[in-house]
Amino acid sequence: MLNILVLGGTDEARRLAAALAGRDGIHLVSSLAGRVRNPKLPVGEVHEGGFGGPEGLAAWLAERRIDVVVDATHPFAARMTASAVEATTGAGVPLLILRRPGWQEGPGDDWRWVPSLAAAAELLPELGERVFLSTGRRSLPVFADLDGLWFLARSVDSPEPPLPRHLEVLLSRGPFTVEGELALMREHRVDMLVTKDSGGEMTTAKLFAARELGLPVVIVRRPPPPDGVAAVETVEAAVAWLETAAGPEGVHAG
Ligand code: NAP
Repeated sequence: MLNILVLGGTDEARRLAAALAGRDGIHLVSSLAGRVRNPKLPVGEVHEGGFGGPEGLAAWLAERRIDVVVDATHPFAARMTASAVEATTGAGVPLLILRRPGWQEGPGDDWRWVPSLAAAAELLPELGERVFLSTGRRSLPVFADLDGLWFLARSVDSPEPPLPRHLEVLLSRGPFTVEGELALMREHRVDMLVTKDSGGEMTTAKLFAARELGLPVVIVRRPPPPDGVAAVETVEAAVAWLETAAGPEGVHAG
């Protein structure tokens, strides 16, 4: 039996769990940070909540006799990734990173790449007055002092203070359509979009809408991936890696 831990919280992680469900010789457990009130759950066993840092994760891997870890967390979940690298290195457990590619600027786009949310906040006042903020509820405090700007913030759960003074919150979960994003941006007369370079299909619609409306997009660069760790960009490639590279037992279709 090959025991796989998938660090999740993403569409890819759910699709990987679904792709491996029911295969002979595999037991898969997915983990979620446990922060979203009604998370979309993957099929199969789910561990909810953190592990207690790299030491806690290493102990958990040993206790559960985990043979391989797939880090399929969001590209901005840098602490979890660092913890996975440290714990698996110490425990001698193979680690694969499944990380969807970042977004690419195309003709007609006006993207301003910034290294951090704080850098994004610094740039906003010179770009306009009405901001569509799609960087997640926990990013809002970074923008809390920008009293001269109005914000439309979209998140899955309600944000907590400190919050910008002029703020409308839209509780919503993707996927979104280009038509819907266009209507939303027009209705609120936003003149810029702020996003993280999350990549993936689920949330690209806002970028196409911004292009169509000629709006500047402030886009936060991803944290760099860890050095020297096997990495793939698709669920199919992760399954193939598990089939061939996870040690002598491998992963076999049932
Ligand atoms: P983070 O800052 O890298 O992680 C903070 C701590 O939360 C980790 O040290 C770990 O606690 C726990 N944790 C994070 N992901 C976990 C997982 N999949 N399973 C178990 N524990 C986890 O992560 P984050 O940016 O807050 O993201 C939290 C979750 O939301 C992740 O699962 C991520 O895939 C998902 N997500 C994040 C974003 C984003 O923009 N950051 C967007 C969409 C989805 P311990 O140290 O106690 O183990």
